[in-house]
Amino acid sequence: MIIFGQRSSHIASFTIPAHNCNYCSTEGQMTMSFYGRYAHVYWIPMFSLGRTVVTQCMHCKQVLEENQFSPTIKDTRELLRPETKIPFTHFIGLGIIGAILLYVTTVAVF
Ligand SMILES: [Zn+2]
Repeated sequence: MIIFGQRSSHIASFTIPAHNCNYCSTEGQMTMSFYGRYAHVYWIPMFSLGRTVVTQCMHCKQVLEENQFSPTIKDTRELLRPETKIPFTHFIGLGIIGAILLYVTTVAVF
């Protein structure tokens, strides 16, 4: 039995000071969090499946997903996106497979 699927890990969170919560109207309490999704086999990350972004109001705890973002939040997301690189550990399984293939094709043949 092969255990596989997808998981996500937290990359970074930022406070958005100039934005009001659209539910409770509290200013400066919005946090934008970036998560990296990856495919895994036996819980070893194989390759990245991209990023997901959510915002949460720290006052009323309302969570918005990307399809619920207002245009100003989308602009903020695009400004912060370059600061949130997908970690190389999300590709560690491909690295292990590549190292094994390299070993088999070069060292083990001779
Ligand atoms: Zn709120």
